[in-house]
Amino acid sequence: MAPDGDDANEADADSALVTARRQLERAAAHVDVDSNVIKRLRHPTRVERVSVPLKRDDGSLDVYTGYRAQHDDVRGPYKGGLRYHPEVSAEECMGLSMWMTWKCAVMDLPFGGGKGGVAVNPKELSHEERERLTRRFAEELRDVVGPKQDVPAPDMGTDAQTMAWFMDAYSMQQGETTPGVVTGKPPVIGGSYGREEAPGRSVAIVTREVADYYDWDLSETTVAVQGFGSVGANAARALDEWGANVVSVSDVNGAIYDPDGLDTEAVATHEEEPGAVMGYDAPETLSNEEILELDVDVLIPAAVGNVITAGNAHDIDAEVVVEGANGPTTFAGDEILADREVPVIPDILANAGGVTVSYFEWLQDINRRQWTLDRVHEELESQMLSAWDDVRAQYEDKDVTWRNAAYVVALERVAEAKSTRGLWP
Ligand code: GLU
Repeated sequence: MAPDGDDANEADADSALVTARRQLERAAAHVDVDSNVIKRLRHPTRVERVSVPLKRDDGSLDVYTGYRAQHDDVRGPYKGGLRYHPEVSAEECMGLSMWMTWKCAVMDLPFGGGKGGVAVNPKELSHEERERLTRRFAEELRDVVGPKQDVPAPDMGTDAQTMAWFMDAYSMQQGETTPGVVTGKPPVIGGSYGREEAPGRSVAIVTREVADYYDWDLSETTVAVQGFGSVGANAARALDEWGANVVSVSDVNGAIYDPDGLDTEAVATHEEEPGAVMGYDAPETLSNEEILELDVDVLIPAAVGNVITAGNAHDIDAEVVVEGANGPTTFAGDEILADREVPVIPDILANAGGVTVSYFEWLQDINRRQWTLDRVHEELESQMLSAWDDVRAQYEDKDVTWRNAAYVVALERVAEAKSTRGLWP
């Protein structure tokens, strides 16, 4: 397909690509960067579209469509997740791959941005079907991925086991064990300790820094977390452990609320028992819309994209929003929150712990050496604090939103690399 994505439906204000492009244009006004570089960055380098035939357990055949969008690799190999979700599309992958470029640049990692996936509902597949689908998808992408080219990772609907199958399929065809082709693998085959909890842990670190920045005592800081999967549950549990008051969490079935604080370890995560949050004995239950409008210090949307929109941004009652999911705030929702002076700490900083520990994993794979969990935690902490300091400096100097400040940090790094390397031919 055309790699520039100009056939994208620009009227759909909520598509990840449209949101990402608008954010780029808005942030570009705050950086002194050659406009031709910005023009190039509106377009992904490549979008691979493949058919993935799957023999079902009953002997019938289904053909799914898979994608890998590679946005930019000026700073290093493309990097980003693979999602299995019915709504995966070329346009969504393009937008999400653009965010990965900024995320890696904000964290100062030597990676560019990529994102891919298969338009499929993984819950409707058996374990064996997911394995066959993943192996075939890996084979279809074999020419465009690799430890030095493009390194996928888990995302919505995929996990460490998916990465193990992907790595195995790739390695078998290459004729050599190649752990660095994906990150987020189980530690026994070259995965990193602490990778699974990393996105949630970084959300918690950033939330702790936010509380400090606004002079709140963490023990008096109330937090609501929408989504109790890998990101939300790990963020909620880390914050709970560090003394914050996590008053509400939710999953697809709804939210539980206790003004005195929940025992987050006692609430089952999506991985432990899908859809079981409402099984916790809480004084009050709320809907997934209501949790977003709670009067709390910090709201962490950590479920899916596009949950804070023009329709509810006026009703957000939190002091600060920390984005756990990728793209939980639409462009229009973001503008309303900015007008209302509700700070939004963007996804490209807040959940960047995932790709940061992916980088640690990639280094461990290259060196064939495993780091301890303590080392991962220490290095993640220092990398998050340094990114937080860089973004905070722009936030204060330029008097822009937190999102624009993170974009400024990222854009300056990517644009400088582009200008230095030049355009060939
Ligand atoms: N899927 C994760 C994200 O959106 C991690 C990507 C990676 O580790 O490459 O940040």
